[in-house]
Amino acid sequence: MPVLVINCGSSSIKYKLYGRTMEDPLAGGIIEGIGGERPRHLHAAGDQEFEAEIEVGDYRQGVAAIVKALAGWGSPPPIGDPAEIVGVGHRVVHGGDRFSESVVIDRSVIAEVESLSTLAPLHNPANLAGVRAARELLPRAVGVAVFDTAFFSTLPPHAYRYAVPERWWRDFGVRRYGFHGISHRYLTERAARLLEHPRPNLVTLHLGAGASACAIREGKAVDTSMGMTPLEGLVMGTRSGDVDPAVVFHLMEAGLPASEIRRGLQREGGLLGLSGISPDFRRVADHARAGDPSAALAVETFAHRVRRYLGAFLVQVAPCDGVVFSGGIGENSHEVRHLILSGLETLGLVVDPARNRAEGERRISAEVSSVDILVIPTDEESLIARDTARLVNERMS
Ligand code: ADP
Repeated sequence: MPVLVINCGSSSIKYKLYGRTMEDPLAGGIIEGIGGERPRHLHAAGDQEFEAEIEVGDYRQGVAAIVKALAGWGSPPPIGDPAEIVGVGHRVVHGGDRFSESVVIDRSVIAEVESLSTLAPLHNPANLAGVRAARELLPRAVGVAVFDTAFFSTLPPHAYRYAVPERWWRDFGVRRYGFHGISHRYLTERAARLLEHPRPNLVTLHLGAGASACAIREGKAVDTSMGMTPLEGLVMGTRSGDVDPAVVFHLMEAGLPASEIRRGLQREGGLLGLSGISPDFRRVADHARAGDPSAALAVETFAHRVRRYLGAFLVQVAPCDGVVFSGGIGENSHEVRHLILSGLETLGLVVDPARNRAEGERRISAEVSSVDILVIPTDEESLIARDTARLVNERMS
């Protein structure tokens, strides 16, 4: 049952095609630089791949190039005819209060996602452009929206409400929504399998270019570090994470325009702002190792903020069954895991240094650790593919 997963970012489209199983993709790739000067297309099918410059001015042309590659490239191509694709799963960033699970896309879903664009102006319009392109180019396929916010529909009001005037919530939707939900849900389901516990209490840490922590009680999200937008919480590549909101009026009163403050918090903050070098953790860590004090501070601040949330969330999910590391940094950097976890033995978290340095999905806690510590490479696309296949099957039966 061929299922295509599409993830439209602000200038890119990532995609994977699944066939026999929803775990191992048949093909996948990325088109980057859409609308820019030199868009590029990287495509892989089986053990063959190509990379090429491509004329792509918008998402429709991007999806058309993807469909063409899937049906026309490789020997043999992963599908003979695009009409074989029965479902297209889309990552949709903001589902607001409205969507607590994945849904089949129809006109009313499109209208509602559109109305949520004010809450995610960089993401929802791009996601919708992908939806519209797929509906036009693959008209027989069932479109499915999988929301990054849906996993947080189980947050209790005391976790999602801010202590602000009630009318801000009522009139402007000011509340915590949470993001990276597809990843946190994947990590929860995977940890449940690894721990052989159907409804574990967990703290999941998705540490990538964007970073977030999630408290999971009995398999359901009860708190998260991201807020009304993906700016709140941990230190990220270019996003500041938590700052005192009074910083904003202090800067406004000092004469900085709102656009500059927004840029500082969203694009020039985080690891980039602290290090002055790069938003890329690996590069910053290399400079820190070479003795650069700003880079060292960036790494320490990153780890310190994760520890703050880890402590807060361990309290919420006690007794905790597992702490899960994921995302490019969480999966790959044994040094950052060591920094985050050192000295927590009295909380029941004991790392095995050799397991910490190994690779792949695994337990990194020592036998004596009362809380399991896991590294799980996230796989948001396979979760989107599974939800899509399920909803397509429900439609067909
Ligand atoms: P995205 O949120 O864009 O999916 P990723 O999850 O791929 O991002 O994470 C990207 C981050 O992971 C970058 O900061 C990168 O430097 C970091 N990273 C990747 N590999 C390593 C590594 N081996 N050691 C440390 N950091 C790494």
